[in-house]
Amino acid sequence: MKTKNKTTVTVFILLIAVTIVFTGTYFALSGREKNKETEEIKALIAKRSNLIFAGVNVPVIENEFTAKLENGRQVAVVLDNTNQAATVEQSDFKGLFVFASDAQNVTITAAYGDDIAFEGTLEDFDKFVPESDGEYRYEIYASFKTDEFEGSCRYCINVLYNTIPEFYLIESDVTQGDIIVLTGENVRGDVEISLDFDYTPFLVFSKAGCTGYIPINFMRQPGQHKAVVTYQGQITELAYNITEGEYEVQQLTISPSVSDATVNNSDAQKEWAKISEQARNSYDENIYWTEPFLQPVEGRISSTYGVKRYTNGASTPSRHAGIDIACAEGTPVAAANAGKIVYSGYVQVTGNTVIIEHGMGLHSVYMHMSSLNCETDQTIGRGDIIGEVGATGYANGPHLHFDFQIGGYSVNPWPLFDGSSEIFDTAQTKIQGTESGTFMVSASHVLVKRFAQTVNMLRALLMKTEKTGKRITSCRFFVVTRTRVELVLPP
Ligand SMILES: [Zn+2]
Repeated sequence: MKTKNKTTVTVFILLIAVTIVFTGTYFALSGREKNKETEEIKALIAKRSNLIFAGVNVPVIENEFTAKLENGRQVAVVLDNTNQAATVEQSDFKGLFVFASDAQNVTITAAYGDDIAFEGTLEDFDKFVPESDGEYRYEIYASFKTDEFEGSCRYCINVLYNTIPEFYLIESDVTQGDIIVLTGENVRGDVEISLDFDYTPFLVFSKAGCTGYIPINFMRQPGQHKAVVTYQGQITELAYNITEGEYEVQQLTISPSVSDATVNNSDAQKEWAKISEQARNSYDENIYWTEPFLQPVEGRISSTYGVKRYTNGASTPSRHAGIDIACAEGTPVAAANAGKIVYSGYVQVTGNTVIIEHGMGLHSVYMHMSSLNCETDQTIGRGDIIGEVGATGYANGPHLHFDFQIGGYSVNPWPLFDGSSEIFDTAQTKIQGTESGTFMVSASHVLVKRFAQTVNMLRALLMKTEKTGKRITSCRFFVVTRTRVELVLPP
């Protein structure tokens, strides 16, 4: 706080100097014009330095600016200290500070009684969760430097938190192969989840709460199931229903020498088991993707998700975990999305293999490639070439075997390709256009961490929308309530 006061004093001295320098010109204007000009500048600055928290204007307690006029003159403006405290009641942690224009050197301090509960930047504040409910006094310091003015502003607002923890599933009616997204709001960690199969969802915590994926593999029994959440001694049961998927039956012929070297070779199986187990236990808190997933190569889909396969006349079928895309040897293979390579190398069973972590334990797996073009631990972009199609490992011809896995359970790739998976949220489908050009979007399940990503998706979608006949080139947004995002379109 000491440095800030020093800065304030320095800025103030400079402002006095500037005022003295320009006093000569200033006197050339009549008192009336001067007043009008000052009022206009004040209004402009107030508009540009406006700060909103949870849809409420945050009062200014102190500010000093220098405005640069078109004729080159500079005018020092010290706005009246409004000094009025505002109190906002928050039933969740999601409120964010949103400036009308880009602010520099933003510092936020939160006092809880006599304690400093938080001190940090705007970015740090995105992750801040108050340790207990009650009143927090936020002081925000920000400096501005634009073509029109420069200076600093101090704001203050009291936020009264009265939160209730809540857990839910974004979608409770699913088909085998889908991913269920479990969300908790107003939680401060230590959440336990138990399922009726051997899997513990990995949870990522943010200001908006926690989120975890539940992979509903083709093996899961159709019918009613539940996820049991234990938090602070309270138990919440979240019911979901699984509908059986439709699966083709395929007869597959593969050369006995290939089978003997791969799936019938116990050492080869052990090698793959070790690699896939390592990948299974990789859970990255970072979500790398911002767009739906790409099909890594074009070609004939020779086998798809969950197919029941009878290999070389076997009496019991095996299940196909992903999709097989048949195409010419040497076809470049693209990364389905941004992520981090958790494995790149040759495996006897699966040939040249790549596994990419896309965040929260969602992995894409690529097999049988003729060559590799990436290394373990490397980060990768959506569509980057990771290798070439081949027929290495357990394969009867050139094709790419591709699948998505969470915790070792494969999920259906198609909803991740076409954007219909609930991991993308349902916000895109619920845009309502109005005459004014303001769109209300249902986005209750959007994590703050992923807020910008979702807005990017919405922006792309809005640009395409024919609804209003308007083409939107940019949009401003802020959280209005926990269930709505308001996109304000340019006039
Ligand atoms: Zn395959």
